[in-house]
Amino acid sequence: MDFLFGKKKGAKKPLGIVICGGPGSGKGTQCEYIKEKFGVVHLSTGDMLRAAVKSGSDIGKEAEKVMATGGLVSDELMIKVIGERLDQDDIKTSGFLLDGFPRTPAQAEALKDMVPIDIVLFLEVPDEVLTGRMTGRRLDPETGAIYHLVTKPPPADIMERLVHRADDNEETAKTRISTYNDNASYIKSTFKDETLEVNGNQKPTLVWKSISAALRKKQKAKK
Ligand code: AMP
Repeated sequence: MDFLFGKKKGAKKPLGIVICGGPGSGKGTQCEYIKEKFGVVHLSTGDMLRAAVKSGSDIGKEAEKVMATGGLVSDELMIKVIGERLDQDDIKTSGFLLDGFPRTPAQAEALKDMVPIDIVLFLEVPDEVLTGRMTGRRLDPETGAIYHLVTKPPPADIMERLVHRADDNEETAKTRISTYNDNASYIKSTFKDETLEVNGNQKPTLVWKSISAALRKKQKAKK
């Protein structure tokens, strides 16, 4: 594929994007927009792990208990899973959007050696806003869609089937937010040239305006 498309005059080189933000920071919404507009492969470690738990695989068994308490799955396992995924052909042709990785200093260091990264987006949202967003969050297990009882109410006819993720209750929300804060500054310093802090405490369309402008700029610079 590369030999066909890579040399096309003006062809866009694929972007390597990382998005970070506390739980409930609006990453899911922005990832949908980024995927749609820039055609990158969306790799959400949370979704990958939830799928592994559902399938009952060895990885799923290892991850299940840790996830339910709001803790982190081992670096060793995460680095292996993401390293193997980033090595696949679709990543080379379409680029990627890493969502949920890196989450620790060890993961940040490992990522530096795996693939070139163009930009690391940080969605900045105050802790108390994150807690409120998480406790009202509901997941539709059939479509994977995320709703919020106050800010993004689900349609009445699917209300019954919605689930409140075990790791979205107030206690685990606090654990997850403090774990995120403990690690965010290290990740920022590891990728200091690539880091862009975006105000995530505003309407999703305004967040998207900042993100899409930054990504267009990166893409232009890569042509
Ligand atoms: P998320 O949907 O991104 O909030 O992830 C849900 C849960 O999956 C987290 O609370 C962690 O237990 C686990 N998880 C996801 N990504 C990682 C990662 N990069 N490192 C360790 N644990 C992770």
